[in-house]
Amino acid sequence: MAESSLTACAGLYVHVPFCPRKCPHCGFYSRPPGPGDFARYTASVLAHLRLAARLPEIRDLRFASVFFGGGTPSLLPVQHLIAILQAARQALDIADDVECSLEANPGTVDAASFRALRQAGFNRLSLGVQSLHDTELQRLGRIHTAAEVRAAVAAARTAGFENLNLDLMYGLAGQSPADWQDCLEQALTLNPDHLSLYELTPEEETPLALALERGELRLPEEEDVLTMMAITQKLLAATPLTRYEISNFARPGRECRHNVNYWENGLYLGLGPGAVSFFGGVRRAVRPGLTRYQQRALKGVSPWEEEERLDREAAFRESVVMGLRMIQGVSATALRARFGLDLRSFYGPTLDRLLAQEFLVWRGDRLALTDRGLVLANPVMAELV
Ligand code: SF4
Repeated sequence: MAESSLTACAGLYVHVPFCPRKCPHCGFYSRPPGPGDFARYTASVLAHLRLAARLPEIRDLRFASVFFGGGTPSLLPVQHLIAILQAARQALDIADDVECSLEANPGTVDAASFRALRQAGFNRLSLGVQSLHDTELQRLGRIHTAAEVRAAVAAARTAGFENLNLDLMYGLAGQSPADWQDCLEQALTLNPDHLSLYELTPEEETPLALALERGELRLPEEEDVLTMMAITQKLLAATPLTRYEISNFARPGRECRHNVNYWENGLYLGLGPGAVSFFGGVRRAVRPGLTRYQQRALKGVSPWEEEERLDREAAFRESVVMGLRMIQGVSATALRARFGLDLRSFYGPTLDRLLAQEFLVWRGDRLALTDRGLVLANPVMAELV
């Protein structure tokens, strides 16, 4: 595609809504695939892609990242994943050095599929490990074992993946700080290039949330969760992995380009049921159901059924709150250039208070969360939304 003077960087997200079964804590839309679902899903995504590629706002974008997320994208047969990536390369302006990520769950992958994906241009893998203790994995409803995690990492490295993320969760029911320390130590022996470490937060009305309400399971006390966070800091300080976002750590240069674009409130095109897009000043959302998505996309009807144009102040607030997730924080100068609003005067006394309470700090022209603010990020952000 010819380069335009208006070319802006963006990310492409492909949502794959299939999972082998539902994990008890998960509130995302996903379902086990039925007969013919993979072919219908892929045809629908390709139709959605063609439709999007005709929009002038999309033609002005250069895609620096492609991310297949879910759900469990690695359930989709390799030839479908590759077909979508190849179609995206033909329809969109994809950068030569694109970061192309796939979320994959151990237990749904093998060496041959990793090799084929690597050859087709996928260059980053994000493995949904969650734990390296089989009892915790069973309680989380995962279909894999710790041994399968190790096998998946070895297969990914052999296939030539040099950019490997492991997703882990802490604060699990029945988990002690010592359990978490052991899990993280085991994960570090796998030499990941990137770690995403999230505290388990059961979504409302999920089986886990209901079991907790009935008292059948208990999450660790807050004090234990804080100890787990401290263990994380201590263990990771001795590695080449640096924290660059509240929950994410990377070797230098291995920060997830796709997610950084989100946190910087950048532009993105989302394909697939439930996927959200943001371009041309408008946020567009596809409703979650697969059948409705297929019906609309295959008939050439726009799958975007919800559109929201954020006003300048709402977009500014959103950029501040999302940007503060990054350890480097947000630049007052960049925000003024983008929105014409001044961070200090916009938040006034609220900002002064959060600074005085040492939740936030100025580092030159950047406003960032302090260590204390990182621990209490959600309530701090709630004051700035
Ligand atoms: S694999 Fe992920 S998306 Fe699928 S049900 Fe489990 S937590 Fe949810």
